[in-house]
Amino acid sequence: MLTSAPPDAASPQIASRKSPDATPPVADERFDGLTRLAKRHFGVAVALIMRIDADRQRLVSCAGPPGGQKPGDLPFSEHSLFGDGMLVVPDTHTDERFRHHPLVIDNPCMRFYAACPLLAADGSTIGVFVLLDDQPQALDGGQRECFRDLARLAAASVESDRAAARLQADTADLRDRERRMALAIAGSGTGIWDRNVQTGEIHYSSGWKAILGYADAEVGNRIEDSYQRIHPDDLAYVQATIQAHFEGKTEGYAVEHRIRCKDGRYKWISSRGKVVSRDREGRPLRMIGTTTDITAMHALSERLQQSVDLLTNLTNEVPGLVFQYRRWPTGESLFSYASAGIQSIYEVTPEQVADSDAMIDALIHPDDLPAYRAALDASATSLTPWDLEYRVRLPRQGLRWRHGAAQPRRLEDGSTLWHGFITDVTERKRIEAELLEFATTDFLTQLPNRRHLMTQIEAELARMQRSAGHCAAVLMCDLDHFKSINDRWGHATGDLALRHFADILRAQLRKSDMAGRVGGEEFAVILSGANLTEATAFARRVQQQLAQNPLQHGDQCIAMTLSIGIAVLTASDTSVDAALSRSDMALYRAKSSGRNRIECL
Ligand code: GH3
Ligand code: MG
Ligand code: MG
Repeated sequence: MLTSAPPDAASPQIASRKSPDATPPVADERFDGLTRLAKRHFGVAVALIMRIDADRQRLVSCAGPPGGQKPGDLPFSEHSLFGDGMLVVPDTHTDERFRHHPLVIDNPCMRFYAACPLLAADGSTIGVFVLLDDQPQALDGGQRECFRDLARLAAASVESDRAAARLQADTADLRDRERRMALAIAGSGTGIWDRNVQTGEIHYSSGWKAILGYADAEVGNRIEDSYQRIHPDDLAYVQATIQAHFEGKTEGYAVEHRIRCKDGRYKWISSRGKVVSRDREGRPLRMIGTTTDITAMHALSERLQQSVDLLTNLTNEVPGLVFQYRRWPTGESLFSYASAGIQSIYEVTPEQVADSDAMIDALIHPDDLPAYRAALDASATSLTPWDLEYRVRLPRQGLRWRHGAAQPRRLEDGSTLWHGFITDVTERKRIEAELLEFATTDFLTQLPNRRHLMTQIEAELARMQRSAGHCAAVLMCDLDHFKSINDRWGHATGDLALRHFADILRAQLRKSDMAGRVGGEEFAVILSGANLTEATAFARRVQQQLAQNPLQHGDQCIAMTLSIGIAVLTASDTSVDAALSRSDMALYRAKSSGRNRIECL
């Protein structure tokens, strides 16, 4: 069988894999002329041309088809695909490869077969030219050459058909892409412009004109007109930007500016472009670009900017620092927002702490730094407000008090974000300290007043009750015949005398002791850890100091004596008053026993 002939018989490169296309050939004078010519020239019954495409073979022209046989059914062409060679079978009956082929044994009893491949420029087989006849025939050298020439002509036509088809497909594809791009550009509200830099002509797309509210014919094509439409305030900037690009200083041209519409109103546009050709000296020849209406976006960003400005202005007006502070579990932290007040609070700028706030730690008073860190840690862990008063040491302001308060919030990445403020509370702290001093100190002598001393004695009693073995002595001191000093030297001198005694008393105190003025010329002392003996010794020292240091008043020397009653504070005392009244009783005894004495109870 022909189709089952050994592959090397005719070296077919393609065989039955190429499905024959049964559609009759469309009349094509180029191919029909060639087959007619071949039929006549070689005196054969049939001359035909098959075309081979990627996946099929197709009869393009057939001169004199054998009776009853459709040209597309002719399978001989399968054997013609053997590189650039030509296959000639002078007599099929004597050729093993064809002897049993149906077209040889049955109608039309083909005896002669010749095939020449149609080769493309790249050497691939794009078709085959076939000659068939029912009589054996031989082709001499000249005929073979002629047959090859005809095949070349046919190949050239097939190639040109293919090129035309490719071009058509490419053009269709290009049109399709162009259409899609045009649709996309129109849909995006973008206009296109194309400027001849040398002539000053500029062409705008319909979309460009539509942005400004113009119909197609309403916009001129002179660049001077285009500059007329630019907002006067933006013109210099636009021209400078374009000039920089002309001079090759920028990769492209991109500006946002206002442009006047047909109705006189201004729109914000974004214009981007590029010089696409330059002359040999680098001078721009042609520039193309796009224009997008960004009025809505601009209005939005302007409103946003206004909100930001408002917020910034407000926070900058607030005394102190308004901040947004962020800390990551890794320990990194920064001020993602800091109002201008950070300059007075920490003497740094918002920019200096925008990436890291590490420098702040160095400004916090070392004694307060642990508390500062612990408070932040606690706030981050429990998400409870951060509220802390701490001291800072600043290069210019020196030691200052700060009060920080902020609300924490956990973010998705595990970081904590605080919003809050830090204010300067130095003045309040000073007043508070002053008030505390007023409330606890006797103005005349600057010793603790009665109330404050009582509190201290109560604390001492509580300490004593907590720890066994601890003791303390309470001394009640009263200047003797003080009234007579007033009477003799005047009240002001009396005051000096009281101060003088307070200084003597203070000088005898250890750190753990405390003396206070509890009445006009009465003073109480609590000696922590002292027993009666030690307290008596203390009392004696005070008496001696007073005796040895009379008040110098002008050239006068005012001597004073002191009576002292001592009692021991014990853990069994239910209140401070009990101990005080015991020392009061001892004092009474000292007075009644002649004054300038020490009595214990
Ligand atoms: P005694 O030895 O019994 O304690 O006699 P004394 O005069 O010290 O006691 P007395 O209670 O009779 O008088 C106390 C005087 O202390 C009366 C009062 O004018 C005076 N005195 C109280 N407070 C002040 C004060 O703040 N300044 C001055 N200058 N005198 C005061
Ligand atoms: Mg007195
Ligand atoms: Mg008195």
